[in-house]
Amino acid sequence: MSLTSGYRQQGFVPLDAPGDFERLALIDLDALEYNVTRIRSLIGGRELVAVVKADAYGHGAVDVARSALAAGADALGVVHVREAATLRDAGIKAPMIAWLHTPRTDFELALRLNLQLGVSSLWELEKIAAAAQTATPSQPVLLHLKVDTGLGRNGVMLADLEKLAARARAYEVQGLVKVRGLFTHLAVADEPQRPETASQSAEFDRALMIAENAGLTPQVLHLANTPATFTAADLQQEDALLRDSVRVGLGLYGLSPLPGVSPQELGLRPVMHLQTFISSVKEVPAGQGVSYGLHYVTDQPTTLALVPLGYADGVPRVATGGPVRIYPAGAEPRTYREVGRIAMDQMVIDLGAPGLSDPALGYLGAPAVLFGAGQNPPVTDWAQAAGTINYEIVTRISPRVPRVSVGGSWRNDTTER
Ligand SMILES: *Cc1c(COP(=O)(O)O)cnc(C)c1O
Repeated sequence: MSLTSGYRQQGFVPLDAPGDFERLALIDLDALEYNVTRIRSLIGGRELVAVVKADAYGHGAVDVARSALAAGADALGVVHVREAATLRDAGIKAPMIAWLHTPRTDFELALRLNLQLGVSSLWELEKIAAAAQTATPSQPVLLHLKVDTGLGRNGVMLADLEKLAARARAYEVQGLVKVRGLFTHLAVADEPQRPETASQSAEFDRALMIAENAGLTPQVLHLANTPATFTAADLQQEDALLRDSVRVGLGLYGLSPLPGVSPQELGLRPVMHLQTFISSVKEVPAGQGVSYGLHYVTDQPTTLALVPLGYADGVPRVATGGPVRIYPAGAEPRTYREVGRIAMDQMVIDLGAPGLSDPALGYLGAPAVLFGAGQNPPVTDWAQAAGTINYEIVTRISPRVPRVSVGGSWRNDTTER
């Protein structure tokens, strides 16, 4: 059975699928495109910036960017200029914005790549203007001023905005830059009952007045991330939060930023599916310690199954007890809890009864799914086991795990992997 059709029909990649992937993060680009359509339905004709920073939250930025654009995203958002360079190198020409710089950022490269740039402080503006003077791009560099309306990270404080805006206006008059956008980032949008989001929106309005008083005319205002985009309507703050453009990351990947709300409830389909195959099955007596520290000890004769993924693959070491769904050829699929410490390369499942090493049951080689769509465990369960959020789990799956993307309306070859 092919990798793609196996996954589509059964929710896992079967052992007999072609390819030598012993472990894989399958990236379902059809699900990603579905999510883009879903997000589009929430925002109407507003601009959608698909946030593909951090290698698309670990999903593989190039293929994800192609799918996001094919499904109707207007632009791509990254954090570093170097992340944008990777996408440009792959031939992606869509509008792209990068918004976190250091004094070592290569702004001349940014100009050559035709990037739009977020600007949070004066030194960035000065360096960008200097790069524009040297590189003389045919068009003014498009800038988005980033204001701190309460998050306390990057972004210019309102008290310092007037000066920054005046300087930006001076460079506009010289034809070096054009302030196309004004934006801010929300601190508590994932907790929709909290009042600070509305305060940030009001501060943002003040920032706009300051920018306009300096003579700037930003056409594109943007605040919303994934949680704001999904809660704006319920909060009756659609216009105040969605403005002209939204910057959506997590939602693209089919994950929910809202505690206690599943992707399904948001109308999203999880995109990443993390799987390997059981690599050892063995009978052990009662009293068998398992993994470093021997913190798990069997209380009866039982069968242990080895899952060949560990913290070098990006599964957090602290996440003892995370779920693994196993699909043996000769027995019912079931979700188990990992036992004992997660090691660099492996973790252990107690199958709960002796005698399960019988080859007829097919536990050896059985697909073992840590998270994915459908019946598979959600990413959030691993996040809970690790004391973190789903964003971190997918983003930190390491390069040791190959990303295998399937689907995607942009692929012009129809060959299945
Ligand atoms: C990462 C990021 C986003 C996307 O946030 P999600 O919650 O993943 O949608 C939006 N804006 C900025 C400034 C970001 O850094």
